[in-house]
Parts: sequence; C-alpha cells; structure tokens
Amino acid sequence: MSSGLANSGDCHDLIVIGAGLAGLATAAAWVDQEAGSVLVLEAERFPGMHSSGRNAGMIRQVAEDPSITEMCLRGTELLEQRFGRDSCSFKRTGSLIFDAHGEISPDSWKQVLFENWSSAQVKACFPELQHLPLGPARFVPGDGVVEVPALIGDLIDTIVSKGGQIQFGTRVGKVSQSASGELSLPEVWNGDQLHTDPDQYRARQIVIANGAWAQDFSRSSGVEIQMKPTNRSGLITSTFDIAEDPRPWIWAHEPGWYLRPGAQEYLWSSCEEVGADPGSDLALEDP
Ligand SMILES: Cc1cc2nc3c(=O)[nH]c(=O)nc-3n(C[C@H](O)[C@H](O)[C@H](O)COP(=O)(O)OP(=O)(O)OC[C@H]3O[C@@H](n4cnc5c(N)ncnc54)[C@H](O)[C@@H]3O)c2cc1C
Repeated sequence: MSSGLANSGDCHDLIVIGAGLAGLATAAAWVDQEAGSVLVLEAERFPGMHSSGRNAGMIRQVAEDPSITEMCLRGTELLEQRFGRDSCSFKRTGSLIFDAHGEISPDSWKQVLFENWSSAQVKACFPELQHLPLGPARFVPGDGVVEVPALIGDLIDTIVSKGGQIQFGTRVGKVSQSASGELSLPEVWNGDQLHTDPDQYRARQIVIANGAWAQDFSRSSGVEIQMKPTNRSGLITSTFDIAEDPRPWIWAHEPGWYLRPGAQEYLWSSCEEVGADPGSDLALEDP
C-alpha cells in the first residue's frame, strides 16, 4: 500500500479508479492472473467508505435477468474459492426468496438449486414473524452472507502481496486519451494538492470503478456510463437473543423488503431507491 505519489513517468499496465469492492476485486483478479503492474487510486483515506463498506453482505445467486444470474453464480463460486466452504468470512446460510409476481425470470431459476417451501415451513423457521403475511417461498441453500470487512481486507492483501499498489487520498479528475491511444490522468488531487502533469499517471488500460460517481466522472472524460445514483436505507434492531444457528436471510420482492438475521439483531431494509447525490447520506430518525 502507498500513501505517496506513483513514480513519475511510470506507465502502469492497469490503473483502477476507486477502491470499493468493484475496483479492489478487479485489481485482485489482475494480480492473481499475473497480468502486469496495477495501481489503484482511491479518493478517500480509507477503503470501503461508501456502498462497499455499508452493505448487508448478503450473497444472492438468482437475479431477475438470467445473464446476471450467471455472473452471480460465478461470483459466489469465487467467494468460496477465496474463503473456503463455511468459513467465518463466507457462510452459505441459504436464503428465502418470495417472488409471487414472478419478477425473477424462469430462465434464472433454471440455473440455481432451490427447494419450494410452504408458508408453514417458512413460519417454522421464523416463528417470530408469524404476524407477517408470508406465503410460500423458494429456499436457495447456496446463498449466504459475507463478512464485508474481511473481504475488503483480503482483496487488499492479495493486491499488495502480489506487487500491486493502492494509493489512498487520491482523487482523479478525469481520464484522457492521446491521439496515439495512450491513456493518462491529467488531473489528480493528492489531498489538497492538484497535479496536472499527464506523465505522472499513465496506463495501458484504465478501469473506472468509482461507483455512484461514474456517470459524471465518465462524462468529463468523454466516455458515457449511464447510471442513476440512489440511496437505500438499512435499519439494525437493538440487540437481543434471536437464534443460535445461522438462518437464511429473506428477500420479499413484493412489496419489496429484505431481512438479514444475525445472532442478536436483524438488519432490515425496505429496498427503497431514493435519487441522491453520490456520497450523500440520508440519516433517518428512528420513528
Ligand atoms: C444499504 C445497501 C445495502 C446493500 N446490500 C448489499 C448486499 O447485501 N449484497 C450485495 O451484493 N450488494 C449490496 N449492496 C450493493 C453493493 O454495496 C454495491 O453494489 C457495491 O458496494 C458497489 O461497489 P463499488 O466499488 O462499485 O462502489 P463504492 O463502494 O461506492 O466504491 C467506489 C469508490 O470510488 C471512490 N471514488 C469516487 N470517485 C473517485 C475519484 N474521482 N477518484 C478516486 N476514487 C474515487 C469512492 O471514494 C469509493 O470508495 C448494498 C448497497 C447498499 C447501499
């Protein structure tokens, strides 16, 4: 890891912009495949300051779209390779998915192992949720939960131990491409200091992995990445004894909420997506 500037004049094989899960996973895969040198540039002073450090850690294989399901299956497999089966960092707890309105394509379900659970089976697993109108669900045994700080730490260890560099506190302004096709970063802030020497950061390939900032960032770099940044809230209940054994998390497509049971608390989200500026927080009061 590095907190200073990259060596002047170095042309990296790959520069990754953003050290969230997307950027770190890209750089870790790159060094694992011995594909060349890599430099990750992160605006914040610490990793995981945004979506990646705040998510629920639920690993889900089935998606609405079959092509995304294929990638989710592969991602789950890679997590198991990284952490092993049923480690503290990645556990296949299973999930219960309610999809009465068929939002998930049948072609997605064909790719994933599941069991049909009656509403009585669901209630036997979650006796404390008797009052909710929970109907039958699909139990997906291969879904699970990942310990996100452990994943972030493991990806950083992989990158650094295999010769990659990560530079925190470094905000990239834009990417530029010369007539000969060479890529460089002509505006980079290291703290308050602006560096405008395009030779400072040059690369054969650049991956833009700066999450919710990608749309505005890519536009100023002359590339079009379409996305609509949104915020989603999560609520963690007070601590009390719920169950000793890990239980499946629940995702109810209609009306739209999920619940991740821990040993002593629940994490619940109403799955809302409220348009928001990148990096902004919506702090909701407990009603
Ligand atoms: C409440 C919530 C719960 C979620 N739960 C789950 C879940 O259970 N399971 C799941 O799979 N997914 C979940 N997600 C989604 C998941 O967290 C995101 O898809 C993932 O973290 C996105 O990672 P990222 O690297 O693209 O973005 P980020 O984590 O936002 O990383 C982008 C990084 O780029 C940096 N950056 C921005 N601009 C620049 C710049 N100009 N120069 C340098 N660096 C820059 C930022 O500082 C940031 O660190 C959840 C998301 C939320 C919000």
